[in-house]
Amino acid sequence: MNIIDGKAFSERIREKVKSHVDNLKKNYDIVPGLAVVLVGEDPASKVYVKNKGIQTKKAGMNSYEYKLEETVDEKTLLELVKKLNDDPNIHGILCQLPLPKHLNEDMIINTIKPSKDVDGFHISNVGLLNTGQKSLVPCTPLGCLMLLREFVGNLEGKKATVIGRSNIVGKPMFNLLLSENCTVTVVHSKTKNIEEICKTSDIIVAAVGRPNFVKSSWIKQGAVIIDVGINRVNIEENGETKSKLIGDVDFENCSKFANAITPVPGGVGPMTIACLLANTLVACCRSNNLKEPEELIL
Ligand code: NAP
Repeated sequence: MNIIDGKAFSERIREKVKSHVDNLKKNYDIVPGLAVVLVGEDPASKVYVKNKGIQTKKAGMNSYEYKLEETVDEKTLLELVKKLNDDPNIHGILCQLPLPKHLNEDMIINTIKPSKDVDGFHISNVGLLNTGQKSLVPCTPLGCLMLLREFVGNLEGKKATVIGRSNIVGKPMFNLLLSENCTVTVVHSKTKNIEEICKTSDIIVAAVGRPNFVKSSWIKQGAVIIDVGINRVNIEENGETKSKLIGDVDFENCSKFANAITPVPGGVGPMTIACLLANTLVACCRSNNLKEPEELIL
């Protein structure tokens, strides 16, 4: 059994991004810029935004952070997005989700210029991906696909099951696997026979948000398992309660049957930020009519 080291692979992607960024600076005096908008004080979102800023700068890009009050009105947020759309120094824009309930998330995402939508959530990018056209692809499923291509190779003809049908992971993952000529099944909370479906799958991508949801009895011998889940749980250790991150897959037991499996942490998580940087670089190249870094796009 192989543990898929997403951390090491993501470092290689970030190095490639940095080398392209250095060339852009040297040859064209262009520095890719990523703007991240954070609304409110959600602790997990604050950590993600901080990490994104650090990694963006490490890759040699400009990082712009916009922090807005939890109570900000929709008009102010939309005006900020439009200002960023018009700023030629900014090539990628993302609004950290989830947004507070009083804001219309769809409307805000769909106000981002599709060519700067590095999260790939704008309806135009969703439609392009769905119809197999060039787009900006959501970072987490893109990272999962890169791992699968690297560690499995040719995916054609493989039977894949995606657990979860969210717009940010499950649905784009379905489209990406389909475009690799996999036979894909998507299962969700209303699916009756998940275990049976998983048991015949060569590839399982779990994006459920439930700790240890995928059991070892569901795994076909030799399957490849990609665990997207990030769940914070409390565990008892030496009489102390500790907080720990675990995935959607029962790693310890499923790994006995799998050919390869991603750990949590250190699997899909680091790939998401690496793909965000890659998307920002791609968006920058496209907006300047420059050749895209082939190895970083699909
Ligand atoms: P989400 O929007 O909550 O979607 C969860 C999906 O799982 C839904 O489609 C839901 O089905 C399905 N589901 C829930 N309970 C189920 C059950 N008992 N049986 C079968 N399906 C069930 O979550 P998400 O945004 O896709 O994220 C999923 C997980 O990935 C979370 O742990 C999240 O933290 C993690 N994540 C990680 C990264 C990363 O960078 N590594 C990025 C994004 C998300 P219904 O549609 O029927 O409700």
